[in-house]
Amino acid sequence: MEIQEKKNIYVGVQTTQVRDIRDFMMEINSYKNILVFAEVNDDKVCDNSLELIGEANRLKAMRNNDSLVIAALIGNNVKKHAPTLFGYGADKVVAFDNPKLEIYRSDLYGEALAAIVRNYHPEIVLVGATALGSELAPTTAAKLRTGLAAHCTALKILENGQFTQVVPAFGGKVLGDIYIPNHRPQIASIKAGITKKLEYKEKSGVVEDFSCELKGFDRMKVVKVEKDTETKKSLNDADCIVVGGFGIGSKEEWTKLEELARLLGGANGCTRPVLDAGWIDNEKAMIGTSGVAVRPKAYLGIAVSGAAHHTCGIKDSGLIISINKDEHAPIFACSDYKVVADYKKIVDALIEELKNRK
Ligand SMILES: Cc1cc2nc3c(=O)[nH]c(=O)nc-3n(C[C@H](O)[C@H](O)[C@H](O)COP(=O)(O)OP(=O)(O)OC[C@H]3O[C@@H](n4cnc5c(N)ncnc54)[C@H](O)[C@@H]3O)c2cc1C
Repeated sequence: MEIQEKKNIYVGVQTTQVRDIRDFMMEINSYKNILVFAEVNDDKVCDNSLELIGEANRLKAMRNNDSLVIAALIGNNVKKHAPTLFGYGADKVVAFDNPKLEIYRSDLYGEALAAIVRNYHPEIVLVGATALGSELAPTTAAKLRTGLAAHCTALKILENGQFTQVVPAFGGKVLGDIYIPNHRPQIASIKAGITKKLEYKEKSGVVEDFSCELKGFDRMKVVKVEKDTETKKSLNDADCIVVGGFGIGSKEEWTKLEELARLLGGANGCTRPVLDAGWIDNEKAMIGTSGVAVRPKAYLGIAVSGAAHHTCGIKDSGLIISINKDEHAPIFACSDYKVVADYKKIVDALIEELKNRK
């Protein structure tokens, strides 16, 4: 009797599961294509978005099916950017032009992107982890009730077809693979410099106009837009970057790194704890998943431990030189030159030598 009951329960559950799984698979399989949010800033498509179109093409090749790379333009008078998107690899461009979208607002842009996704059913959505994208991606994911992996350091398609988003976890000590198995689309945000854009090739394609009602929040009103006129030397322009980690110890000691960068004609970068501690006041100097990705000819890492959150932002640097007093510091695993020492002795000697040469 007991066995019979168990058997019935098992069959009943199984029958229900089979039906649900079929519905579920049909629903999941109705999502195809890879959609990239093409961010426009100062009337120019962001490099980050062009890189993501390149990445979408790489994923499409791994998918090995007839997926399309769709670029979504949202703004006012943004349709004109479609040729740029085709040139960098988009198969189709969806343009949502509306005067209400002239200035970025998370409520309106979130509604617009969510509506585009509902209409085009992409399997994957890629958004640049810019200041704007870092707000828009979760807003859209919440509207669509789907998953988002923020600040991914890599994207993969496994042999079984599973789309996989790689995100540093546990303070950057491990890289976690994120799957979104039961919801579509799968949304990922990625920083500039982590993926690569394709070489520009003149090509045309289909541009589809898109429109929907935009409600927004009544209480929200843009009063003024102020541009960040940061004049400090950008990390992207510098051939040499002197990066300090929390092991520097204090704001007073940090000034030595500023002097060293000046003498080398380079720029200063930092890890997150240094920014949090207020030793540097330039937010754009933070390198890593929540900061910028850099590609200098030379990266000099001083008292930086080498957490994956940071090193994912330096992987395309030319020469990587690191100074750390701990011979087992993870930064050494990706360094070309390793100096195991108290940084103070090395930095003081370097500053003196450079001053003498001048
Ligand atoms: C979601 C999330 C996102 C993050 N994003 C970023 C990011 O974008 N960028 C980023 O940098 N971090 C980021 N972090 C933090 C990151 O995980 C690490 O905690 C951080 O990078 C460590 O910074 P650090 O190496 O400066 O400090 P620590 O880990 O404290 O390392 C200090 C190092 O200095 C060495 N040292 C100490 N004294 C000396 C000395 N006198 N001489 C030589 N060496 C010395 C030590 O041996 C140690 O290796 C993020 C974390 C999370 C959770």
